[in-house]
Amino acid sequence: MYTFREIWGNSALVRHLQTAAAGGRVSHAYLFTGGAGAGKRMFANTFAKALQCEGAGERPCCTCASCTAFDSGNHPDVIYVRTEKKSIGVDEIREQILETVNLKPYRFACKIYIMENADTMTVQAQNALLKTLEEPPVYARFLLLAERAEAFLPTILSRVAVMPLRPLPEQEIAAYLREKAHVPAEACDSYAAYAQGRIGRALDLLQDEDFQQLRQDILQKVQALPGMSEADVLAMAKDLEGYKNDLRFLDIMELWYRDLLAAKCLREERFLVEKEQKDAVFRAAKEPPERLARNARAVHEARKRLAQNANFRLTMEVMLMEIKGD
Ligand SMILES: [Zn+2]
Repeated sequence: MYTFREIWGNSALVRHLQTAAAGGRVSHAYLFTGGAGAGKRMFANTFAKALQCEGAGERPCCTCASCTAFDSGNHPDVIYVRTEKKSIGVDEIREQILETVNLKPYRFACKIYIMENADTMTVQAQNALLKTLEEPPVYARFLLLAERAEAFLPTILSRVAVMPLRPLPEQEIAAYLREKAHVPAEACDSYAAYAQGRIGRALDLLQDEDFQQLRQDILQKVQALPGMSEADVLAMAKDLEGYKNDLRFLDIMELWYRDLLAAKCLREERFLVEKEQKDAVFRAAKEPPERLARNARAVHEARKRLAQNANFRLTMEVMLMEIKGD
């Protein structure tokens, strides 16, 4: 159920929207930005529900006719703009917005359009929407969701209030996983680290069997690496080509070496991310700290080179040989 109390983090933004929904100043159009799993949908839906709420106290009240309609998934005055295609074109804007926006709300205070993946709007679609954003009917509200604001025409950006969702600190995500999602304690820190600041991403990864397998495989590989021959290392680089399109394996490696460093220097389990692997981490953290730091750097460098389109196999070979050392 959507309420502001369910939203963790981004508290300044939450307060801003709560004040608006409680009768403060409301813009006609908002753009929520953030990576996948950052909470854009959560924010937009909660705000829409709060704007339509007829309760006298805290909004959304979750008991009025509007909130009940919203929670049933059938609110007549909250419209989701959708497409089956890769991008939102002029046709979608015309059929789903322009043809209905001048009709008054069916039953409630405003008429709210929620558009996910708004950054896939074509330039023509953005131009088609622009006139409505410039002179919206008094009851109309537009909530656009997008990964990045840069995808929009400056004319659109000048008409919307941009609400950037910030990444959350790892401790906050770990606390959410523990208290709200009831994730086993020893997995909370590692998934909070993999989440890159986004609760939704942590929840997705926890459900993602491919990721679980990837993690198993990579943790095995990094533990086997120090005892390998050069030929084995080159074979491993070839193996890693299977993950060419899933660079999450580098996150797993980076966290592993970060953990080895923590185990070496801080010597306490509570500082580890991979608590489930604590015995293996303490076993592997035998090398001097400089070497462990160098391993983490090697992974970081590899990621940078891949971002610059370096050859994948070669980059893996260099990284693994550097880590294996002499
Ligand atoms: Zn309500």
